[in-house]
Amino acid sequence: MTAEHSLISELVDEHAGSPHPHSVNRRSRLLPAAVALLSLLVVLIAAPFAKVPLPQVPAFIPVYESALILNDLITSVLLFGQCVIARSRALGALASGYLYTSAIALLHMLSFPGLFSPTGLLNAGPQSTAWIYIFWHAGFPFFVIAYALLNDRRQARIKGNIVGAGKLMFVVGAMLCLAAGMAALATAGEHLLPEIMRNNHYTPTMRWVAGSTWGICLLALAVLYRQRRRSPIDLWLMVVQCAWICDVALSVVFNGGRYDLGFYVGRIYGMCAASFVLLLLLVENTFLHSRLAAALDELKRLATTDPLTGVANRRAFDAALTTHWQRTLHDGSTLSLLMIDIDFFKHFNDHYGHVEGDRCLLLVAECLARTVRGTSDLVARYGGEEFVVLLPETDAASAAHVGKRMCDAVAALAIPNAGSPHMPHVTISVGVATRVVEIGAEMMDLTKAADHALYLAKAAGRGRVEEAGLTA
Ligand code: GH3
Ligand code: MG
Ligand code: MG
Repeated sequence: MTAEHSLISELVDEHAGSPHPHSVNRRSRLLPAAVALLSLLVVLIAAPFAKVPLPQVPAFIPVYESALILNDLITSVLLFGQCVIARSRALGALASGYLYTSAIALLHMLSFPGLFSPTGLLNAGPQSTAWIYIFWHAGFPFFVIAYALLNDRRQARIKGNIVGAGKLMFVVGAMLCLAAGMAALATAGEHLLPEIMRNNHYTPTMRWVAGSTWGICLLALAVLYRQRRRSPIDLWLMVVQCAWICDVALSVVFNGGRYDLGFYVGRIYGMCAASFVLLLLLVENTFLHSRLAAALDELKRLATTDPLTGVANRRAFDAALTTHWQRTLHDGSTLSLLMIDIDFFKHFNDHYGHVEGDRCLLLVAECLARTVRGTSDLVARYGGEEFVVLLPETDAASAAHVGKRMCDAVAALAIPNAGSPHMPHVTISVGVATRVVEIGAEMMDLTKAADHALYLAKAAGRGRVEEAGLTA
């Protein structure tokens, strides 16, 4: 897995229903709890009036179900996305559940009598639509139960580095087939099912069927509740299950048939329930994007910074050198490079130890960084106790001057170096190389020349600056 991919997966893990998500705090439980209570209140208030007949509004079913189908489809796509990133089987199960509800809700709408044809499409019989509704509402909680059980298992990650398109297509196909199969049973196999609907009114058998559906919803709620740690998705799924229980209660248990108060209120509430997880996913996606942008910035900073000294690292230097070199070729400006090495540093380490050695490197790096111009010049750690300084638009004389300033500044730190055979404190040697317009040298020649100048500075006694000519 790439660094960026694992970073995204870590962020998704933190936010969503990954196998071991961060638990939610008390404050974030308040809103879901309030919505669940509201659901119960709606049922309690509406239940006594559930059988009150209301006018048949022909537009209600297509409007309500179109919204629901789209809601569930988008939720499913977002959840499949999170499932792929977090490689979570649990999220895959939930995404499948939403896809199943979206598909079966579409078939429910097509088969509804009086919408697309007087008796409904798909060769629907008098109770086909009612059975599709039951398969839809009793089916979804099974996916929620699968989600909760997988969520609780330690090894719930999908094997392999990535979830392939083939696997996804298989799951999508399976869900569409399942929805189509259930709809076929309710239509072509209608005669095999008990009679639950007669003349737009429920038969006594419906009590049992609806009661069982209710029981499965309750079971899903209980399985969600007994999870050890709950993520925001888990909490909102519990709210969705509460709302589904209310939906089923109002629209098939307490009411008497189609187009009464229970039928309308239950369905409207069911649609709100379907939106909870979608809203949560959309809000989390926004947070995820802002955190991802911040994390990528941090990743870039880490990739270009030397962890010990805090100045730029070799990678950042190489990139900056290439950029500035190209610019000098383009506009003919000069470019200088200082190669810096701490004198007798082996002795320093031997005498004071490596921890003090590291501290000394940090002090020298900070000192060098303080000595250059803020934005255009770049100080980088080249490796070990060697530093490089890139000085764009700086001629040889000015670069040598900067080198001298650096030598003086490091000497002024007066870091004792008792192990040195010549100097009482830490000093640096600096090699300077400058690219002048007329010379057609290669980029690497600049580094080589600065390195050669550094060698000359060492040979001449250390603690000094030497310049090297850059030849073509
Ligand atoms: P010279 O004046 O010729 O440069 O002598 P020197 O002893 O400094 O020789 P050289 O430049 O070859 O020394 C490199 C030493 O720097 C070797 C190693 O002990 C030390 N060194 C390199 N990287 C680190 C580091 O990250 N931390 C510490 N503490 N020491 C380092
Ligand atoms: Mg060295
Ligand atoms: Mg050295």
